[in-house]
Amino acid sequence: MGILDNIDFLVDDPKNKVNLTFLKNSVERGNISHAYLFSGGDIDKLYRLSQYFSASVNCPGKGCGDCKVCKDTLKGVYPDVITVEADGSILTIDKIVELQNFMSLTSYNPGRKIGIIKDADILNEEASNRLLKTLEEPPHPGSIFILLSEDTKSILPTVLSRCLILEWNLEPDRKEIEKTYFAELEAHVNEGIRNLICISRNSSHRDFSHSLNLSVKFVDFLKEITNRVKEDLEKEIKEIEKSSVDRSAADKYTKPIKARNERRLKKISNLGVNKVFDIISAWLEDICMVRLNFEASKLNYEQNYALIKESFEDVEIDRVLKLSELIQRNREHLIYSISSELSLDNILVQFQNLIKPIKPEV
Ligand SMILES: [Zn+2]
Repeated sequence: MGILDNIDFLVDDPKNKVNLTFLKNSVERGNISHAYLFSGGDIDKLYRLSQYFSASVNCPGKGCGDCKVCKDTLKGVYPDVITVEADGSILTIDKIVELQNFMSLTSYNPGRKIGIIKDADILNEEASNRLLKTLEEPPHPGSIFILLSEDTKSILPTVLSRCLILEWNLEPDRKEIEKTYFAELEAHVNEGIRNLICISRNSSHRDFSHSLNLSVKFVDFLKEITNRVKEDLEKEIKEIEKSSVDRSAADKYTKPIKARNERRLKKISNLGVNKVFDIISAWLEDICMVRLNFEASKLNYEQNYALIKESFEDVEIDRVLKLSELIQRNREHLIYSISSELSLDNILVQFQNLIKPIKPEV
């Protein structure tokens, strides 16, 4: 039993089990690839996984957990492992050059040199190309690169094709601020959809301005809440600045926090639109469940049972499923920066189209 058998934060999932068995077998047989990409929903957990794996690769006992190699690697101070991460919201070429230089030096201890790249999805093009060259011609035989990313879709395909990709199922370890933020967003979106249903039920003709207004309201709410998170994050920085006498010392401490906050904010605003899509998808699932005569307790939002039953009485399940598929396709397109507002407009209009008015259309 080694450290790869005792990772406490991994959820019980077949994907994780397969990945772990694969890594353990590679370590056991000394059959290590020169480049890996670990992807999954939480960058800190991905980083810890990469440390466990790095320790197992270099430990004489293949990951005993007790020797100096294991302990230092897990603490992040082992001299043959380097971690690079962005100072701001972009991972720039100087970081990749730093990585290359480190990797081209002879290793300090017996074993392999390992370069870990955090948030590989924020590499800019110049840095990506430099990294690609490094992966194609590793500066040192036996060097290992481990790229970490929550969102592999923004990584250059040529870089991806050089890596052995392992997708992990990781529960995101969201901070308190983010949890509150999502709970509020969920309540707001649910209320908006309930109102849309009530208004549409009581009008004799379909007036899609209600959907379009709702779309604007959701987008405004996302912006407002992102600003609030921003203010909360900035408070932390002001505290540090206030408590230090020496201005330049304060800058040194706040710089990495500012960079981290910028990345968190970006992630939050991307997740926000997806969260709205998640909630609408949950409504559509519930509509199907009710149409298929499931009990209220099986629904995502149990409290909507009666409203759904009377408002989507005879909607064809196929139409509901089609809208679910459309949401999924739009989600994929968001990465190519197609306006999230336009997507949302379209989806809400089609959602409204499923609602059965009480008075027949004239
Ligand atoms: Zn060890």
